[in-house]
Amino acid sequence: SAAPQPASVRFRAVVDRIPAYVPGARAADPAAHKLSSNENPYPPLPSVRAAVEQAAAQLHRYPDMFATELGEALAARHGVEASSVVAGTGSVAVLGHVLQAFCDTGDEVVHAWRSFEAYPILVQLQGAVGVPVPVDAAGRHDLAAMAAAVTERTRVVLLCSPNNPTGPALAHAEVMTFLAQVPPDVVVVLDEAYVEFVRRPDPLDSAAALAAHPNVVVLRTFSKAYGLAALRVGYAVARPEVARGIRTAATPFGVNHLAQVAALASLAAEAELLDRVAAIVAERDRVRAALLDQGWDVPDAQGNFVWLATGDRTAALAVDAAAQGLLLRPFAGEGLRVTIGEPAANDRLVEAAAAWR
Ligand code: PMP
Repeated sequence: SAAPQPASVRFRAVVDRIPAYVPGARAADPAAHKLSSNENPYPPLPSVRAAVEQAAAQLHRYPDMFATELGEALAARHGVEASSVVAGTGSVAVLGHVLQAFCDTGDEVVHAWRSFEAYPILVQLQGAVGVPVPVDAAGRHDLAAMAAAVTERTRVVLLCSPNNPTGPALAHAEVMTFLAQVPPDVVVVLDEAYVEFVRRPDPLDSAAALAAHPNVVVLRTFSKAYGLAALRVGYAVARPEVARGIRTAATPFGVNHLAQVAALASLAAEAELLDRVAAIVAERDRVRAALLDQGWDVPDAQGNFVWLATGDRTAALAVDAAAQGLLLRPFAGEGLRVTIGEPAANDRLVEAAAAWR
Protein backbone atom coordinates (compact mmCIF):
# COMPACT_ATOMS: atom_id res chain seq x y z
CA SER A 1 0.00 0.00 0.00
CA ALA A 2 1.11 3.58 -0.64
CA ALA A 3 2.96 5.45 2.11
CA PRO A 4 0.58 7.80 3.93
CA GLN A 5 0.78 11.37 2.71
CA PRO A 6 2.32 13.77 5.22
CA ALA A 7 -0.16 16.26 6.61
CA SER A 8 -0.16 19.55 4.77
CA VAL A 9 -1.64 21.53 7.63
CA ARG A 10 0.06 24.75 8.72
CA PHE A 11 0.74 25.76 12.31
CA ARG A 12 0.45 29.37 13.34
CA ALA A 13 3.91 30.84 12.87
CA VAL A 14 4.44 31.21 16.62
CA VAL A 15 3.94 27.51 17.33
CA ASP A 16 7.29 26.40 15.93
CA ARG A 17 9.09 29.11 17.86
CA ILE A 18 7.72 28.14 21.25
CA PRO A 19 10.35 26.65 23.56
CA ALA A 20 9.65 23.15 24.83
CA TYR A 21 8.49 22.79 28.44
CA VAL A 22 11.08 20.44 29.98
CA PRO A 23 9.48 18.42 32.76
CA GLY A 24 11.57 17.14 35.63
CA ALA A 25 13.19 13.80 34.82
CA ARG A 26 11.13 10.73 35.67
CA ALA A 27 12.94 8.13 37.71
CA ALA A 28 13.79 4.94 35.82
CA ASP A 29 15.25 3.66 39.09
CA PRO A 30 12.51 3.55 41.75
CA ALA A 31 15.15 4.11 44.43
CA ALA A 32 16.20 7.42 42.89
CA HIS A 33 15.29 10.62 44.70
CA LYS A 34 13.15 12.84 42.48
CA LEU A 35 14.20 16.36 43.34
CA SER A 36 13.40 17.77 39.92
CA SER A 37 9.80 19.05 39.96
CA ASN A 38 9.33 20.90 43.25
CA GLU A 39 6.91 18.26 44.43
CA ASN A 40 6.03 17.55 48.03
CA PRO A 41 7.99 14.50 49.25
CA TYR A 42 5.14 13.38 51.54
CA PRO A 43 2.48 11.01 50.19
CA PRO A 44 -1.20 11.99 50.51
CA LEU A 45 -2.72 12.13 53.99
CA PRO A 46 -4.94 9.11 54.78
CA SER A 47 -7.97 11.41 55.02
CA VAL A 48 -7.30 12.83 51.54
CA ARG A 49 -6.76 9.37 50.07
CA ALA A 50 -9.97 8.11 51.62
CA ALA A 51 -11.94 11.03 50.18
CA VAL A 52 -10.49 10.38 46.71
CA GLU A 53 -11.20 6.65 46.91
CA GLN A 54 -14.80 7.36 47.86
CA ALA A 55 -15.13 9.93 45.08
CA ALA A 56 -13.97 7.33 42.54
CA ALA A 57 -17.48 5.87 42.70
CA GLN A 58 -18.61 8.89 40.64
CA LEU A 59 -16.08 8.56 37.79
CA HIS A 60 -18.85 8.07 35.22
CA ARG A 61 -20.26 11.55 35.96
CA TYR A 62 -18.91 14.92 34.87
CA PRO A 63 -17.56 16.95 37.74
CA ASP A 64 -19.24 20.11 39.02
CA MET A 65 -18.25 22.38 36.14
CA PHE A 66 -17.52 25.39 38.33
CA ALA A 67 -16.08 23.49 41.33
CA THR A 68 -18.72 25.28 43.40
CA GLU A 69 -18.02 23.73 46.80
CA LEU A 70 -14.28 24.13 46.42
CA GLY A 71 -14.71 27.71 45.24
CA GLU A 72 -16.84 28.50 48.29
CA ALA A 73 -14.30 26.94 50.65
CA LEU A 74 -11.49 28.89 49.01
CA ALA A 75 -13.50 32.11 49.12
CA ALA A 76 -14.05 31.65 52.85
CA ARG A 77 -10.36 30.94 53.33
CA HIS A 78 -9.33 34.07 51.45
CA GLY A 79 -12.09 36.30 52.83
CA VAL A 80 -13.59 37.04 49.41
CA GLU A 81 -16.85 36.29 47.59
CA ALA A 82 -17.13 32.97 45.76
CA SER A 83 -17.34 34.95 42.52
CA SER A 84 -13.73 36.03 43.15
CA VAL A 85 -12.34 32.50 42.81
CA VAL A 86 -11.62 30.67 39.54
CA ALA A 87 -10.24 27.14 39.77
CA GLY A 88 -8.49 25.32 36.95
CA THR A 89 -6.38 22.36 35.87
CA GLY A 90 -3.37 23.46 37.89
CA SER A 91 -2.42 27.09 38.30
CA VAL A 92 -0.55 26.88 34.99
CA ALA A 93 -3.88 26.42 33.21
CA VAL A 94 -5.42 29.28 35.18
CA LEU A 95 -2.52 31.49 34.11
CA GLY A 96 -3.19 30.52 30.50
CA HIS A 97 -6.81 31.60 30.99
CA VAL A 98 -5.70 34.93 32.43
CA LEU A 99 -3.60 35.56 29.33
CA GLN A 100 -6.45 34.47 27.05
CA ALA A 101 -8.80 36.85 28.83
CA PHE A 102 -6.52 39.88 28.60
CA CYS A 103 -4.02 39.54 25.74
CA ASP A 104 -4.57 40.07 22.03
CA THR A 105 -1.95 39.31 19.41
CA GLY A 106 1.04 41.60 19.90
CA ASP A 107 0.13 42.69 23.42
CA GLU A 108 3.02 42.68 25.85
CA VAL A 109 3.47 40.63 29.02
CA VAL A 110 6.26 41.74 31.33
CA HIS A 111 7.82 39.04 33.50
CA ALA A 112 11.05 38.38 35.36
CA TRP A 113 13.64 36.06 33.85
CA ARG A 114 14.82 33.59 34.76
CA SER A 115 11.49 32.62 36.23
CA PHE A 116 8.87 29.89 35.73
CA GLU A 117 9.55 28.36 32.34
CA ALA A 118 5.86 28.16 31.42
CA TYR A 119 5.63 31.98 31.23
CA PRO A 120 7.21 32.49 27.77
CA ILE A 121 5.42 29.40 26.46
CA LEU A 122 1.95 30.54 27.51
CA VAL A 123 2.61 34.13 26.45
CA GLN A 124 3.79 33.16 22.97
CA LEU A 125 1.03 30.60 22.50
CA GLN A 126 -1.44 33.39 23.15
CA GLY A 127 0.24 35.43 20.39
CA ALA A 128 1.41 37.96 22.93
CA VAL A 129 4.95 39.27 23.24
CA GLY A 130 6.96 38.42 26.34
CA VAL A 131 9.11 41.18 27.80
CA PRO A 132 11.59 39.35 30.06
CA VAL A 133 13.33 41.50 32.67
CA PRO A 134 16.50 39.91 34.10
CA VAL A 135 16.50 38.99 37.79
CA ASP A 136 19.42 40.51 39.70
CA ALA A 137 22.56 38.66 40.78
CA ALA A 138 20.75 37.46 43.92
CA GLY A 139 17.92 35.96 41.82
CA ARG A 140 15.47 38.70 42.84
CA HIS A 141 12.94 40.48 40.66
CA ASP A 142 14.19 43.89 39.56
CA LEU A 143 10.87 45.64 40.17
CA ALA A 144 12.17 49.07 39.15
CA ALA A 145 13.25 47.68 35.79
CA MET A 146 9.98 45.79 35.46
CA ALA A 147 7.96 48.97 36.10
CA ALA A 148 10.10 50.75 33.51
CA ALA A 149 9.40 47.93 31.02
CA VAL A 150 5.63 48.56 31.12
CA THR A 151 4.46 50.29 27.93
CA GLU A 152 1.13 51.16 26.33
CA ARG A 153 1.14 47.63 24.87
CA THR A 154 1.51 45.95 28.26
CA ARG A 155 -1.64 44.12 29.33
CA VAL A 156 -0.25 41.79 31.99
CA VAL A 157 2.71 41.68 34.40
CA LEU A 158 3.73 38.41 36.04
CA LEU A 159 5.40 38.52 39.45
CA CYS A 160 6.58 35.19 40.83
CA SER A 161 7.04 35.03 44.61
CA PRO A 162 8.93 32.96 45.62
CA ASN A 163 10.63 32.98 42.24
CA ASN A 164 11.00 29.61 40.56
CA PRO A 165 13.84 28.61 40.09
CA THR A 166 16.03 31.16 41.91
CA GLY A 167 14.20 31.17 45.28
CA PRO A 168 13.75 34.68 46.73
CA ALA A 169 10.30 35.99 47.69
CA LEU A 170 9.06 39.54 47.28
CA ALA A 171 8.61 41.91 50.22
CA HIS A 172 5.22 43.53 50.75
CA ALA A 173 6.43 47.12 50.54
CA GLU A 174 8.26 46.68 47.24
CA VAL A 175 5.20 45.11 45.61
CA MET A 176 2.95 47.93 46.84
CA THR A 177 5.40 50.47 45.41
CA PHE A 178 5.38 48.56 42.13
CA LEU A 179 1.57 48.38 42.01
CA ALA A 180 1.38 52.14 42.54
CA GLN A 181 3.59 52.60 39.45
CA VAL A 182 1.63 50.32 37.13
CA PRO A 183 -1.40 51.70 35.25
CA PRO A 184 -4.67 50.36 36.71
CA ASP A 185 -5.69 48.73 33.42
CA VAL A 186 -2.64 46.45 33.44
CA VAL A 187 -3.30 43.11 35.16
CA VAL A 188 -0.66 42.19 37.74
CA VAL A 189 -0.52 38.45 38.43
CA LEU A 190 1.01 37.48 41.76
CA ASP A 191 2.07 33.86 41.21
CA GLU A 192 2.28 32.44 44.72
CA ALA A 193 2.70 28.76 43.89
CA TYR A 194 5.16 28.38 46.81
CA VAL A 195 3.75 30.95 49.23
CA GLU A 196 3.22 28.50 52.10
CA PHE A 197 7.00 27.99 52.34
CA VAL A 198 7.82 31.71 52.74
CA ARG A 199 9.45 32.67 56.03
CA ARG A 200 10.92 36.11 55.34
CA PRO A 201 9.68 38.54 57.98
CA ASP A 202 8.03 41.13 55.71
CA PRO A 203 6.41 38.98 53.01
CA LEU A 204 4.03 40.03 50.29
CA ASP A 205 0.46 40.12 51.66
CA SER A 206 -1.38 39.37 48.43
CA ALA A 207 -4.82 39.79 50.04
CA ALA A 208 -3.91 43.35 51.03
CA ALA A 209 -2.48 43.98 47.55
CA LEU A 210 -5.72 42.74 45.98
CA ALA A 211 -7.85 44.80 48.37
CA ALA A 212 -5.95 47.95 47.40
CA HIS A 213 -5.52 47.23 43.67
CA PRO A 214 -8.43 45.84 41.61
CA ASN A 215 -6.04 44.86 38.79
CA VAL A 216 -4.33 42.19 40.93
CA VAL A 217 -4.82 38.46 40.26
CA VAL A 218 -3.46 36.07 42.90
CA LEU A 219 -2.48 32.62 41.65
CA ARG A 220 -2.30 29.63 44.03
CA THR A 221 -1.92 25.88 43.66
CA PHE A 222 -2.57 22.63 45.49
CA SER A 223 0.46 21.05 43.77
CA LYS A 224 3.21 22.07 46.20
CA ALA A 225 2.43 22.63 49.89
CA TYR A 226 -0.77 20.58 49.63
CA GLY A 227 0.92 17.70 47.80
CA LEU A 228 -1.71 17.19 45.07
CA ALA A 229 0.50 17.62 42.00
CA ALA A 230 -0.93 14.54 40.30
CA LEU A 231 -4.49 15.84 40.47
CA ARG A 232 -3.83 19.22 38.82
CA VAL A 233 -5.76 21.85 40.71
CA GLY A 234 -4.94 25.52 41.12
CA TYR A 235 -6.92 28.75 41.29
CA ALA A 236 -6.98 32.49 40.92
CA VAL A 237 -8.36 35.02 43.39
CA ALA A 238 -9.37 38.32 41.82
CA ARG A 239 -12.08 40.97 41.93
CA PRO A 240 -15.35 39.43 40.69
CA GLU A 241 -15.31 41.64 37.57
CA VAL A 242 -11.78 40.40 36.77
CA ALA A 243 -12.54 36.78 37.69
CA ARG A 244 -15.47 36.81 35.27
CA GLY A 245 -13.21 37.06 32.20
CA ILE A 246 -10.83 34.40 33.51
CA ARG A 247 -13.82 32.09 34.06
CA THR A 248 -15.03 32.75 30.51
CA ALA A 249 -11.69 31.51 29.17
CA ALA A 250 -11.58 28.47 31.44
CA THR A 251 -11.59 24.94 30.07
CA PRO A 252 -15.08 23.48 30.67
CA PHE A 253 -14.99 20.94 33.53
CA GLY A 254 -11.28 21.67 33.91
CA VAL A 255 -11.10 20.60 37.55
CA ASN A 256 -11.95 16.92 37.73
CA HIS A 257 -14.06 15.42 40.49
CA LEU A 258 -11.19 13.69 42.29
CA ALA A 259 -9.25 16.94 42.29
CA GLN A 260 -12.20 18.89 43.73
CA VAL A 261 -12.73 16.32 46.47
CA ALA A 262 -9.02 16.06 47.29
CA ALA A 263 -8.60 19.83 47.43
CA LEU A 264 -11.56 20.13 49.81
CA ALA A 265 -10.21 17.30 51.99
CA SER A 266 -6.83 19.06 52.01
CA LEU A 267 -8.36 22.31 53.19
CA ALA A 268 -10.04 20.33 55.98
CA ALA A 269 -6.62 18.88 56.93
CA GLU A 270 -4.74 22.14 56.47
CA ALA A 271 -3.09 22.20 59.90
CA GLU A 272 -1.55 18.78 59.33
CA LEU A 273 -0.36 19.77 55.86
CA LEU A 274 1.17 22.98 57.16
CA ASP A 275 3.11 20.94 59.76
CA ARG A 276 4.65 19.08 56.84
CA VAL A 277 5.41 22.39 55.18
CA ALA A 278 7.22 23.48 58.35
CA ALA A 279 9.31 20.30 58.23
CA ILE A 280 10.20 20.97 54.57
CA VAL A 281 11.12 24.55 55.44
CA ALA A 282 13.42 23.31 58.23
CA GLU A 283 15.10 20.94 55.77
CA ARG A 284 15.40 23.73 53.21
CA ASP A 285 17.14 25.97 55.69
CA ARG A 286 19.42 23.11 56.77
CA VAL A 287 20.39 22.34 53.15
CA ARG A 288 20.97 25.98 52.27
CA ALA A 289 23.13 26.51 55.37
CA ALA A 290 25.20 23.43 54.48
CA LEU A 291 25.67 24.64 50.91
CA LEU A 292 26.67 28.13 52.09
CA ASP A 293 29.19 26.45 54.42
CA GLN A 294 30.64 24.66 51.43
CA GLY A 295 31.14 28.04 49.76
CA TRP A 296 28.22 27.97 47.32
CA ASP A 297 26.54 31.29 46.68
CA VAL A 298 22.93 30.12 47.17
CA PRO A 299 20.24 32.78 46.77
CA ASP A 300 17.70 33.26 49.54
CA ALA A 301 15.48 30.17 49.35
CA GLN A 302 11.82 30.86 50.20
CA GLY A 303 10.22 27.99 48.24
CA ASN A 304 10.66 24.22 48.58
CA PHE A 305 13.83 24.31 46.46
CA VAL A 306 17.33 25.80 46.34
CA TRP A 307 19.27 27.18 43.38
CA LEU A 308 22.86 26.20 42.67
CA ALA A 309 24.49 28.49 40.12
CA THR A 310 26.62 25.85 38.41
CA GLY A 311 27.07 27.73 35.12
CA ASP A 312 28.78 25.80 32.33
CA ARG A 313 29.06 22.68 34.48
CA THR A 314 25.29 22.37 34.91
CA ALA A 315 24.54 19.64 32.37
CA ALA A 316 27.50 17.51 33.47
CA LEU A 317 26.64 17.87 37.16
CA ALA A 318 23.03 16.85 36.51
CA VAL A 319 24.32 13.69 34.85
CA ASP A 320 26.67 13.04 37.78
CA ALA A 321 23.81 13.57 40.23
CA ALA A 322 21.56 11.18 38.30
CA ALA A 323 24.29 8.53 38.44
CA GLN A 324 24.12 8.88 42.23
CA GLY A 325 20.34 8.52 42.24
CA LEU A 326 19.54 12.22 42.52
CA LEU A 327 17.25 13.66 39.85
CA LEU A 328 17.72 17.44 39.70
CA ARG A 329 16.41 20.06 37.31
CA PRO A 330 19.20 21.50 35.15
CA PHE A 331 18.88 24.85 33.37
CA ALA A 332 21.68 24.42 30.84
CA GLY A 333 24.52 26.89 31.26
CA GLU A 334 22.85 28.48 34.29
CA GLY A 335 22.25 26.27 37.28
CA LEU A 336 20.58 23.39 39.03
CA ARG A 337 17.28 23.69 40.82
CA VAL A 338 17.10 21.24 43.68
CA THR A 339 13.77 20.38 45.30
CA ILE A 340 13.87 19.74 49.02
CA GLY A 341 13.03 16.08 49.57
CA GLU A 342 13.14 13.61 52.43
CA PRO A 343 16.08 14.15 54.81
CA ALA A 344 18.01 11.18 53.33
CA ALA A 345 17.73 12.69 49.85
CA ASN A 346 18.79 16.09 51.13
CA ASP A 347 21.83 14.52 52.85
CA ARG A 348 22.87 12.94 49.58
CA LEU A 349 22.47 16.21 47.75
CA VAL A 350 24.66 17.99 50.29
CA GLU A 351 27.32 15.28 49.89
CA ALA A 352 27.20 15.52 46.10
CA ALA A 353 27.44 19.31 46.22
CA ALA A 354 30.53 19.09 48.46
CA ALA A 355 32.23 16.93 45.83
CA TRP A 356 31.39 19.47 43.11
CA ARG A 357 33.10 22.37 44.88
N1 PMP B 1 3.78 28.81 39.14
C1 PMP B 1 5.02 28.47 39.48
C2 PMP B 1 5.96 29.52 39.89
C3 PMP B 1 5.42 27.13 39.43
O1 PMP B 1 6.67 26.80 39.74
C4 PMP B 1 4.48 26.15 39.04
C5 PMP B 1 4.82 24.68 38.98
N2 PMP B 1 6.09 24.35 38.62
C6 PMP B 1 3.22 26.57 38.69
C7 PMP B 1 2.88 27.91 38.76
C8 PMP B 1 2.18 25.62 38.18
O2 PMP B 1 1.78 24.71 39.11
P1 PMP B 1 0.46 23.86 38.90
O3 PMP B 1 0.05 23.98 37.47
O4 PMP B 1 0.85 22.48 39.27
O5 PMP B 1 -0.55 24.46 39.81
